[in-house]
Parts: sequence; C-alpha cells; structure tokens
Amino acid sequence: MRSAWAVLVIAVVLTTVLSAQTKPETAKAPTSEVRFTPGMLDQSIDPCTDFYAYACSKWQAQNPIPPDRPSWGRFNELQERGEYIVRDVLEKAGEDRPGRTANEQKIGDYYASCMDESAIEKAGTTPLAPDFDSIAELKSKDQLPKEIIRLQREGADVMFGFSSGSDFKNASQIIADVDQGGFGLPDRDYYFKEDAKSVELRQKYVEHVQKMFELAGDAPEKAAAEAKTVMEIETGLAKGALDQTSRRDPQKIYHKLSNQELAALSPAFNWNLYFEGIGAPQFESLNVSEPDFVKQMQNVINDYSLDDWKTYLRWHVLTDNANILPAAFVNEHFNFFGKTLQGTKELRPRWKRCVGFATNDLGEAIGQIYVQQTFGAEGKARTLAMVEKLEKALGEDIKTLPWMGEETKKEALIKLAAITNRIGYPDQGKWRDYSNLKIVRGDAFGNSQRANQHDLQRQLNKIGKPLDKGLWPYPPMTINASYNPNQNNITFPAGILQPPFYDNHQDDAMNFGGIGAAIGHELTHGFDDEGSQFDADGNLRDWWTPTDKKEFQERTSCIEKEYGNFVAVDDQKLNGKLTLGENTADNGGLRISYMALLTVLAGKEPAPVDGFTAQQRFFLGFANVWCQNRSDAIARMLVTLDPHSPGKYRVNGTVSNMPEFREAFHCKADAPMVNQNACHVW
Ligand SMILES: [Zn+2]
Repeated sequence: MRSAWAVLVIAVVLTTVLSAQTKPETAKAPTSEVRFTPGMLDQSIDPCTDFYAYACSKWQAQNPIPPDRPSWGRFNELQERGEYIVRDVLEKAGEDRPGRTANEQKIGDYYASCMDESAIEKAGTTPLAPDFDSIAELKSKDQLPKEIIRLQREGADVMFGFSSGSDFKNASQIIADVDQGGFGLPDRDYYFKEDAKSVELRQKYVEHVQKMFELAGDAPEKAAAEAKTVMEIETGLAKGALDQTSRRDPQKIYHKLSNQELAALSPAFNWNLYFEGIGAPQFESLNVSEPDFVKQMQNVINDYSLDDWKTYLRWHVLTDNANILPAAFVNEHFNFFGKTLQGTKELRPRWKRCVGFATNDLGEAIGQIYVQQTFGAEGKARTLAMVEKLEKALGEDIKTLPWMGEETKKEALIKLAAITNRIGYPDQGKWRDYSNLKIVRGDAFGNSQRANQHDLQRQLNKIGKPLDKGLWPYPPMTINASYNPNQNNITFPAGILQPPFYDNHQDDAMNFGGIGAAIGHELTHGFDDEGSQFDADGNLRDWWTPTDKKEFQERTSCIEKEYGNFVAVDDQKLNGKLTLGENTADNGGLRISYMALLTVLAGKEPAPVDGFTAQQRFFLGFANVWCQNRSDAIARMLVTLDPHSPGKYRVNGTVSNMPEFREAFHCKADAPMVNQNACHVW
C-alpha cells in the first residue's frame, strides 16, 4: 500500500529526464571534502542565533546548485559519488565478452542500450507505434480496461494505480490495492490551486502537452485541442483524489472492499475484465485506497468521449516514455518537468540519467556487485551495534516519559522490542530475481517497457501470499533510510553508511550526530502521528489509552505549530501537518541519539577535538548532514509534496527544542536558538 514509507529524505525523483549529450564523459568522481572540518564553520555567526547558518552557510556559498540539479545537498554529494561507482560496474558489465553472468548481461546491455543515442535517434517514434495503433483500434469505451492493462503493464501511469501491499489490519498478509493515479502533474493540488504561480504552471503544462503531441506528428491546432482534453480528463480524475497530507493518514487510505463493492463504485469500468488481464492471482477482496477516486473515475469515463480517452492514453504513452525517446522529446520533457517545475537549468549528462534508469529498473542486480566492492561485514556489525544503543536509549526514554501511563508504556516497549533491523543489503536468497526479464542490446525502449512489466508482475505475484520481510524496497546503493509501519522494521542500505553520516575515522560524537540521529529518526517513526497508529505486528490497531493519546496529541500539535510557522520560500510556509511525522522523528531521533552518546561516554569528558567538546561535535555532526541549497521553484513544489522540512528547519527547528543544545553552546535564555515553548514528544 502506498504512503507506508517514512523515509529520511525525499529523493526528488519526480521526473527524471534525458537528452542528447554528445561530448565524451571523461569527468572523474568529485573529490570535495565530505568529512566535517572546523573550516566549514562560519565563525562570524553566533551558533545561538542561527545554528544552521553557523554550520552550513559556508558550505552553501561554496557549493552552488549545479546547473543540472534543482537542489544540492550533502545527500546529493554522496549520491553523485555512488553514481561513479555504479557507472564503473555498468561499463564493465557492458563489455561484450564471453563468460558474463546473466545479471552482468542484463545490466551491461541495458546501460549500453540507454547510452546508444544514435540507435534511439534512428528509431525515432517507431517504438511508440504498437501502443498508438492499439489505442487507435479501440471501438468502444467498454474496451478501455484492455488497453489500460496493456499500458499499465508497460509502466504507463494511466487512470489509476494497481499494485499490492500489506493489509493494514492483518499486516502479515499481502493484498491487492487500487490507488489514485493517472495524473501528469505531480499531485492533485496542482490542478486546483488558484495562486498566480499555480495558474501559470497549469498554462505551461498545457503548452507542453501540445508540443509533445506536435513532436509525435500532430498538426498544431489538433495538438492544442488534444492538450486541452488531457488537462480536462486529468483534472476530472484529480477531483476524486486525496492530497498528500490526507494520504499520510492510514485511516483515510484503508478501505477493504469485496471485488463486487469495488465494481459498484464504477460500473462503467469492467473490473472483472481488468483483473483477469492484468496478471494478478485471483482474489475476492482488496484495499481501495480512495473509494471517492474510483467513484469519480466513473464520472470521468462517462463525461468524455472515446476519442477524448484515446487522446489521454496517447499522452501518457508519450510522457511516460519520454526519457527513452529521441532528443527532441527528452528536451521538451525536461523544459517543463525539469526547468519550469523544478527550476533546473540544464539536463543531466546522459550517463548519469542512464545510471539512474538502470538503478531504477535493475537496482538489485547492480547492488549485488556494488556491495561486494564497497561494504564489508565490519560496517554491518558496527551499524548494528549503534542501532542497539539507540533502541536502548529509546526504551529508557519511553520508560521515563512523565506524560505516558504504565499501560501505554508497556505496549510501546513491546513495539520497540519487536522492531527488526535491516542493515546494508538483503540477505542471501532475498535479492530480486531478474531471470525472467529479457534485456536486448540496442533496444532501450523495449528494455524499459519489459523492466516495468517485470516489476509490476513481481508486485502482483505477492497478492494472497504472506508478507516476506526479507524483501527490500530499494537497492543497497540508495542514500536514504526508512521505517515501514506495516513491517515494524527499519532499513539502512549500504549507501548511507558512509561519511558524513558514518565514518570509522571520526569520534563517537560526530557519528552519533550523523548516522545515530538518522537511526533514531527512523526508530521514532514507529511512534510518530502515523506510526503510532500501528502496533508491534504492523497492524493498524489503537494501543493507546484515551488519556495518553490526548497527551501525545497535545505534544505533537506543539511541533505542528512550530514548523507551520517556518517560511519555505516567499510567502509559502511549511505545512505543519504534512511534515509532522518527519519533524517528530527529527526531534525524537536527535534526542535519543544524544542519550545514547552519553551512555557511550559514560560520564567521561573526552578531550576536545578541534576545540569542540563532544556535545558540541554531536550537534555539529547533525547539522553538517543537512547543509543544502534549493531553487525557489523546487522549494515551492516541496511545500506541497514533501513530508520533510528543508535542511534549515530540520536543524534549527530541532536543536532549538533541546536544552542540551543550549547547554553545549552556552546560549542565553532569550537566544533565537532557544525555543521558549520547546516541544518535546519523544
Ligand atoms: Zn523520516
């Protein structure tokens, strides 16, 4: 089911984009300093006035946003380094030599095909023909399900989403899941917001849709009319959709219905026919995340002619495959989704885009080689030891909370003890199996569609089966981490277990401020406004006494108010409700990591390093991870989409709630970094 992930950062993967890049790629991996050094601090700024500026303003000045990025931060530096490693793996696997393993053939030939721009240019729009022909042959709206099946299996996002996920109330069981979908813009709010910027964005979107139809060969007047139709149908679907804040509420996205009940919501769409063809095992009930969306689907099917629907489907074939079409499509796609929407100035070099696509489509085949090269058993053991210290600290925190009663504490401790930890990479036998996926050298378009089909089938095959907690949601080179409330586990892939998060050569204080706070963050997700609604087994079940729940909500509303007053860009404030879970996790995570550090120090005061006490270095290590720059365009976009606060508030919002910070930096009682109404949940 969607929205079940509470991740550490957002990877801005909205729409990755491709283009022609002709000059040879000889660039080497960046070598800038990832480790913290005191030279990074701006000594002209008082840490008690603006800790983020003290720790990050020099980094910000020295690290402007690269032209091919909408934002740039320490996470991106790591990501970029990883891309060079992955490129080496892919290039080596791409050498056409005997004795390649099956996975080497797939990843190597996938990458080589993606890089073969001349073959892609030569093919032109020919790869689109089977989809366009099939759409053109539709005789009535009754045939829509068959075409939707075809396109969804190829990876197109049309009309709605269909996949599998844990049953929220019986989490060990995987069930089918129908979800809202089929929009071209990033979110339902984009279709309805009335501020000038949003109105302008919609107008530019319609212009972009028109241009894409023209590139596909339609005359300008026809393309203009088609673009209008696309906008109308997508707006119609969006009317039934939930916004991002609502989608964080598990109660709002869990509706277990029988197949008949689903069919009754939208009789204009033959669900039986759809389920027979999509490739799912038989089932009798499923989760319908947003029943109102399915009802609205019914209206939109009825309101628009077959020809209008054909236009909508052709549009999604175009936009959803734009990345692997000739340069003209790639550039136009980038103009809207990269430039206009996110404020990115230039397209990323082709090899970086192809590394991204290969990672997306064959991530665990690449990951098996990546971890052999980068991640030893020692890294896993040391991280696990840290996780145990953090879990112990959270246990102590729960036991000593003044506002929580014994009954709820008992349940919370049971839940904490049940959290399982996945570190580095999947266990043997749990790697994704790509043996049924055919990758053909020279067929970038076909490879992408077959990979999408393979992935959908993998998801659908789980329906009706027990949950397998050994399967990972993303490949091990990912620079991120997550907590899954349905599985009650945390995942820390190999990618994030490196400087500046974690470093064998740094003192404990820096590591606890970095990876320690990140581990604490993920553990706290089990107890934020969303995670706290799930129990030790991952089931949606209320284990709180009413009094304790009230106390909890009073404390989370403090955080909601605090962050809701922070300005993201121009007149746009953060959405305190959308970001509540992440902010709660940031605050709890930093606090319990600090507790864990104190137990490691065991009352001894280590000699200052570079003139900073261990306590000061802990907070510096934390801030260092969140240094970042963002374009105004993406800052605006993320206010609507991102449940995470920008780096500045992840740092200042959090440390200003901690008396330990005030003490470490000897701040005066009325200093800006001392929140007079300090919020404290965990
Ligand atoms: Zn998070």
